[in-house]
Amino acid sequence: MHPVVKPALRRGWRDLHTVQFGMTPAHAVTLGPVDTATGSLLDLLDGTRGLPLLREEGRRAGVPPRQVDALVQRLARAGLVDDARGGGPAADALRGRPGVLERLRPDLAALSLLTPEPGGAPARLAARRAQRVRVHGAGRVGALLASVLAGAGVGEVDVRDAGRVEPWDVAPGGLPAESVGDRRDTAARAAVRRAAPDRPPRHAHSPGSGAEDPGLSLVVIAPRDDVAVHAPDPLTAAPLMAAGTPHLYAGVVEGTGVVGPLVLPGESGCTGCLHRDRADRDEAWPRLVAQWQSGRARRGGACDLALATTVAGLAAAHALAFLDGGAPSAAGTRWEASLPGLRWCARPVRPHPECDCGAAQRGNREHSSTDGRQRATMAVQRPSTVRRREAVAARPTGTWRAHV
Ligand SMILES: [Zn+2]
Repeated sequence: MHPVVKPALRRGWRDLHTVQFGMTPAHAVTLGPVDTATGSLLDLLDGTRGLPLLREEGRRAGVPPRQVDALVQRLARAGLVDDARGGGPAADALRGRPGVLERLRPDLAALSLLTPEPGGAPARLAARRAQRVRVHGAGRVGALLASVLAGAGVGEVDVRDAGRVEPWDVAPGGLPAESVGDRRDTAARAAVRRAAPDRPPRHAHSPGSGAEDPGLSLVVIAPRDDVAVHAPDPLTAAPLMAAGTPHLYAGVVEGTGVVGPLVLPGESGCTGCLHRDRADRDEAWPRLVAQWQSGRARRGGACDLALATTVAGLAAAHALAFLDGGAPSAAGTRWEASLPGLRWCARPVRPHPECDCGAAQRGNREHSSTDGRQRATMAVQRPSTVRRREAVAARPTGTWRAHV
């Protein structure tokens, strides 16, 4: 192990014996008591030295080896130390591509705040390169979102859409002005390549079979049509539900940005649940949806460029949180923000007992179960709130969340 105190967190001494790592309430931690000699070792934990060399340098500074080991262990238990050479073979392979790693350095630093174990951040960043995501819809939101995912290190990002690029599809980071008139899917894929020219080669799989590819980690549905954003058609997602493929909705409708729900088939509320719930609360809902859907698609709906950019970024962040194994708050929730206030509001998408997705029935079973851990370990790529709770509960004595 080559310990490095997580460089993402700024360090400051609150007093002679207490160190604060980090500035913001979400991730700052204080550590104490720390004596001055031990504190001076912190500067040596920069990832360039293995433990034997650290012990040697500690001895020269008058700190016994066991105290060096104790400091490293204490920092590791507090989630404050990373292993500059950890993360396994995939992380080693990533380190073998310094150009890629330099580009993703801020993303790696951000991941280090979310992974308490040494080596966890490089492992997760490397794991992104094996993820496969498909984005349906290459308008202002979809094309940019796909580029962000690729730029953030997701290995394979495909974009599906029909037709040709219209002038109003153009957005910074998404479809460029020069692509107007080109095929939308081709232009969006080119944007994705520009965002991450160093992506790994695509895996071969069999397109054209009609079924959704079961190997997809996530599908993002980012419709250009505002009705499909506001009242997503469950039929569109039927193959994804059948294949058990997680999918996330994002778009802009009439000056309102929408991110979510992230649908975990059979686990969280789906669009079928959403429609049934809306119909329960408003009996005119199905009638209105039928009229909206039978109306003509509008050329250039009210889709503010800054709002579309925000939606693309937030949706990409939720997608990455899920792909990294976290628990994004978009599962079972639509986040909505409207012009001009732009305050994000959560609208729950509750599992509906009459929806055949089974999320409501599963929810009932889980409420009667006491073994939350089993639920988390059974899941392959499920958000693990259990893991997050365990990380908080495992915080060792002598460290605490900084109230800053
Ligand atoms: Zn459902």
